[in-house]
Amino acid sequence: MKQANEPKLNKIERYKRELPPADFSPERVKDWQNVDERCRFYLKNFGLYNNKLRPDLWMIRLRFDGGLITPEALKLLARIARQETARLLLTARGQMELHDLRAGRVLPLWRELKAAGLQTCQVISDNFRGIVIDPLDGLASDNRIECLSILQEIRERVVGKREWIGTLPRKFNTALIGREAPSFNPWGNDLLLALARDGDRWGFNLYLGGKNSETAREADIFCPPESAADLFEAVAKVYREHGPRGSRSKTRLFHLIEEVGMPQIRVWIEEESGTPLPRAGELRMQSSHRNRDHLLPIRRYGRHGEISPEELEKAVQEAQSHEHTLRLTPHQELWAFDPDLVHQEIQNPKSKIPNHASTGSVTACAGSRYCPLSLWDIKEDLALLPLGRLEKLGVSLGFSGCLKGCGRHYHSDLGLIGLRTNLYAETERAARIFLGALQAPEPMPARMLYYSVPLRRLGELLHTILDDYEASDRADFETFSREVLARYSIETLQLWYLVRQLHELPNNLVELFYAGDEFVLLSKIDELPDMPQNPELYEKIKQLSHRLWDLV
Ligand code: SF4
Repeated sequence: MKQANEPKLNKIERYKRELPPADFSPERVKDWQNVDERCRFYLKNFGLYNNKLRPDLWMIRLRFDGGLITPEALKLLARIARQETARLLLTARGQMELHDLRAGRVLPLWRELKAAGLQTCQVISDNFRGIVIDPLDGLASDNRIECLSILQEIRERVVGKREWIGTLPRKFNTALIGREAPSFNPWGNDLLLALARDGDRWGFNLYLGGKNSETAREADIFCPPESAADLFEAVAKVYREHGPRGSRSKTRLFHLIEEVGMPQIRVWIEEESGTPLPRAGELRMQSSHRNRDHLLPIRRYGRHGEISPEELEKAVQEAQSHEHTLRLTPHQELWAFDPDLVHQEIQNPKSKIPNHASTGSVTACAGSRYCPLSLWDIKEDLALLPLGRLEKLGVSLGFSGCLKGCGRHYHSDLGLIGLRTNLYAETERAARIFLGALQAPEPMPARMLYYSVPLRRLGELLHTILDDYEASDRADFETFSREVLARYSIETLQLWYLVRQLHELPNNLVELFYAGDEFVLLSKIDELPDMPQNPELYEKIKQLSHRLWDLV
């Protein structure tokens, strides 16, 4: 329904009007060395990606909804990667990417993958991206609804269907969670069906409008498993029909909800469904911090999303010899496990199969070796961070190379964006810091703690935050965030972590921090020696940050 005051269509929408993406085929491209912006848009709908900053190199993204992948597909990808000297990445949506492909090889490889039955359709641009479920969906002891069959029903309705190829206003991420304690944070999805209970029946509550910088919000709809695919389709139609198509930066489902409000979205969903929908039930999906998969005998392959052809082949060989199931996971990993063994909760971590899994997890965006938008080689630069301690404490870290946030910095305990700054010295590497994402029952994205911290002092800051968490005696970092950090304004936390690094603080002041009384804490901080006399909190923070981080 076009509104009278609808803003001018953005350029991508104008392309779509000229030629629907479903009517395009990569076979039409004659000169792969010189594709223009319009052609790049169409190719994205088929999983073929190239950036004008690196026009000579291409990427193919493959679609594995739910992370379902066969040994044959893995072997094929390993062979192609070796033959093309391409690099392989595992993504945070459980997909796989082939990077560094030469222009002349893209079309033959795309044909080869297609002939082998592999999907590259609708994985980039304005499409339903790979649908995410928990890797132990249907198997874990806390599983209440098996989501795989729902995922397959949704797939059949939308993947490869011309009315859905490139027809949404923007990308659309979906997560289906039937476990009580999922193994990852799913709140950044546009559509989240989260395990819920209505009286004596299990089902899902619907949450909408998540994205890299926002958590999904309750739509106040309960849905039994048998109606989940219908509900998904109703939401998708509402978004396709009413979603904004003006400025590209304001076209996500989130922006439609901002514009018209969730009650109106609910009305539209009911109209599409053709029936009144039950109100939300009791949310039973908990935080991923409650997840205990690290106690299970799971082999994990890949390191922060990178995996070599040799490791892929090894994974296939080991899985086949042990009759293990293979899954690509939202942790940027490939898992292999015995479906019979993971059905039970293993209390003894000394399992017969070595499991190097941690309770914490790192999500690292592709970084400068794969993505021209990144200022940091994120995968490599992770080595500069206290990963061992994060892992030991079960603290999650999301690390992005730019504001787009593929590293999920807003959906992690600690989030980073790699930057450069000249605030404290000649231009140097620095990071923007985010703190304290919350999950169920009241999800919130992480808050930005500092705009820019020089890399040379980043480790010290992270250790100080971890010291506070450890001393807080809270069960996990999210509880620390909810019960301690969330009680303070971000300015107070900025001041706190500056004085924590500049001063040896007395025990009574540290104890005050855990009490969560902002006014008392600020007045006690003011009594510290050498505190700036300026009454404005902002000025104090500015002066102390220069005192701490200026390179003199
Ligand atoms: S966060 Fe930015 S730099 Fe990293 S992969 Fe995404 S777009 Fe590229």
